[in-house]
Amino acid sequence: MFASKETYRACIYTRLSRDDGDKPESDSIANQRALIRDYLKQHKEITIVSEHSDDGYSGVNFERPGFAEMMDEIREGKVDCVVVKDLSRFGRNYIEAGNYIEKVFPFMGVRFIAINDSYDSSDKSQSDSLVIPFKNLINDAYCKDISVKIRSQLEIKRKKGEYIGAFVVYGYVKDPEDHNRIIVDTYAAEVVRAIFRWKMAGMSQNRIADKLNSQGVLCPMEYKLSMGVKVQTNFRVHKQAKWSAVSVTRILTNELYTGVLLQGKSSTPNYKVKKRFDKEQSEWIRIENAHEAIITAGEFETVQELLGKDTRISPDEEALYPLAGYVVCGDCGQNMVRKTIPRRGKKYVYYVCSTNKAKKGCSSHSISENKLMDAVLHVIKEQISTVMRIEGLLEMAQSLPENQRNIFNYDAQIVKLQEEIERNKGFRMKLYESLEEGMIDKDEYFIFKKNYSDKISLAEKNIQSLEAERDAAVEKNAADYSWVDAFKKYEGIERVERQVVVNLISEIRVYEGNVVEIDFQHNDAIEAALKIIDTLPEDMKTEA
Ligand SMILES: [Zn+2]
Repeated sequence: MFASKETYRACIYTRLSRDDGDKPESDSIANQRALIRDYLKQHKEITIVSEHSDDGYSGVNFERPGFAEMMDEIREGKVDCVVVKDLSRFGRNYIEAGNYIEKVFPFMGVRFIAINDSYDSSDKSQSDSLVIPFKNLINDAYCKDISVKIRSQLEIKRKKGEYIGAFVVYGYVKDPEDHNRIIVDTYAAEVVRAIFRWKMAGMSQNRIADKLNSQGVLCPMEYKLSMGVKVQTNFRVHKQAKWSAVSVTRILTNELYTGVLLQGKSSTPNYKVKKRFDKEQSEWIRIENAHEAIITAGEFETVQELLGKDTRISPDEEALYPLAGYVVCGDCGQNMVRKTIPRRGKKYVYYVCSTNKAKKGCSSHSISENKLMDAVLHVIKEQISTVMRIEGLLEMAQSLPENQRNIFNYDAQIVKLQEEIERNKGFRMKLYESLEEGMIDKDEYFIFKKNYSDKISLAEKNIQSLEAERDAAVEKNAADYSWVDAFKKYEGIERVERQVVVNLISEIRVYEGNVVEIDFQHNDAIEAALKIIDTLPEDMKTEA
């Protein structure tokens, strides 16, 4: 945060949109304005110098004329304080709003006040009170009324956001003339087209993978290796990788093949700020016809529909309520119970803490089933897309020629050390001869002998640790990533079904105020994968 100043020149910002479900009465521009002016009467240090409003603009994005005018005034230095009635007036995309409040405004020395959220960035004692919920909120309009807190993995994802991105995808190569562009790789593009064709003809991803393998088509990773830096092939760290249902699915779901480029993973908020900020994927810029398409948009759509159907399950598996047994009270740890309340001819379904229901203490923690299901669905989708991005990076890590070269280096070093041991052993043997021949005396004999022995044991020790490192590197390359399939299987889900919950989730904790925390299975594997990704060379991570 920034140091408090004596006086501030404020802009009042107001916004109203029926699309967002705003209440025309209480949220009207006039009401917002009145409330802000009233509030500022108690803040003599703040002078209102301008006012901007966006009547009829959704808060989901920030492309609003009033907002843009306000930002211009901030950049010009006319305004150094922004006052809104509440956060949702400022924006409903909480990640982007958080970006402004947490990063952009502090950089520009702008004080931000959200009256009904009791937030004032000049108050250092509570400066985190807003930022923290922001970080934990799921951001889009669809989920706007549900505050969902997700544990570790997504936090990590955001941290790594800058390099969880696009590498050159199978089917394309970098344009040798312009490294910011990709061009079609004729051979691989044919394979991609065949994969789409076979899927549309009704083949499963497994069958497509089998077919490619039986035809001897190299999988993307092997193909990349075969095209890349020359790697000696007499030393392989893993058996030749094959096509799998996963790699086929990855191709079938990559919109890049239709010529669309998703860009803008980071952006520079203004000319003064050099630092680049991460953007969420939903905020990425879509550029149509960015490169030559391999698949038509129509073909792509058809395949997405087919894939969506594949994830449906038979109806008799739905006898149990999807979340049964998974929902616990975040505070007392006991199960939440499902309760149906009839009201005005309708049925309302809630989950409440069982301790509370048994009147043994604890608060109700009540949450509607619909809300909870929406939150669970949203978080599962986020998790799946995170896993898929991690997978892409893992494949990159595996296919790195550097990785294999490292292993060569280990072996070369070990060979050198073995030679050194032999040499020193030879010297040590000859020592006795030298003693016999009177070239050295007994004291010298023991000193030299100890010297050679020390060298030998040091080299042996080094070999041991190099071998351990080499084995770890080999293991890293050959690690089992089958957990990725567990998530990928549900890509494109639109409903939370029992099967998904059973296969992916380990616990759903509900706290007061509709805060939901979800633990996923395979957490350890994901953590381990992120550690491997951490070892990727920096330029690799940032390569776009
Ligand atoms: Zn409880």
